[in-house]
Amino acid sequence: MRAPVREIFCSAQGEGPYVGVRQAFVRFEGCNLECVYCDTPQGPIGKCRVEVRPGGGEFMELENPLGLEEVRCCIRGYKQAHSVSLTGGEPLLYADFIKALKPGLDIYLETNMALPEGARKVAGDVRYVAGDLKVRESFPERAKYDEYLEAMVECFKALRKTGDRDCFGKIVLLRGVDQEELVEVVEQIWEYISCLVLQPVTPHGVVSWGPRVGEVLSLQERLLERGVEARVIPQAHKLWGAM
Ligand code: SF4
Repeated sequence: MRAPVREIFCSAQGEGPYVGVRQAFVRFEGCNLECVYCDTPQGPIGKCRVEVRPGGGEFMELENPLGLEEVRCCIRGYKQAHSVSLTGGEPLLYADFIKALKPGLDIYLETNMALPEGARKVAGDVRYVAGDLKVRESFPERAKYDEYLEAMVECFKALRKTGDRDCFGKIVLLRGVDQEELVEVVEQIWEYISCLVLQPVTPHGVVSWGPRVGEVLSLQERLLERGVEARVIPQAHKLWGAM
């Protein structure tokens, strides 16, 4: 079994409640969405680059698509990792590969929560789930948002927190989002998650501005009032220039 992988490296998690933990990262190629703030390189995949020494800036290259043992072997090279972050792109495009991976570390899945079938497939194999809840404003074709919402709720149901699995939600906040709608959407999933991270967008591409501080804090207040554990956590790895 094989899957296209853009890069494999070791770093500290830069987002969410596990910020700072040391992880191996496997960045799969390709995504089924097109968020306006996406900073993941698109286009021809070429070879997979594999970081030789954590933070050393030296990479070797592997031919794509990669086999299961090749990925496991790269991960084993990074010592003292808390878990392996499967990210993208969208890792659930390769749910069968993830199911078969058995990397020897807990799996931390970063997903856009748009592929319920894939979510159901890997539910028994992942220990941590960082699930996106996209805002309508992040969709270039906003009409597609309703379709996404249905799939997103299904994914949170399949990957919900249990005694063996943590699942938290993440909202990348743009300036001027419809907070009424957002609170209603959160109410559909909050019983499935341990906390909800409000992550002010890091300006990129067509997005020039993040949300105002007052906007973020007012949304946090509304969510806390409803019993949702809402935390504001910006992207930390961008501050110190890590991958
Ligand atoms: S889900 Fe992630 S990788 Fe896919 S387009 Fe959105 S930001 Fe980019």
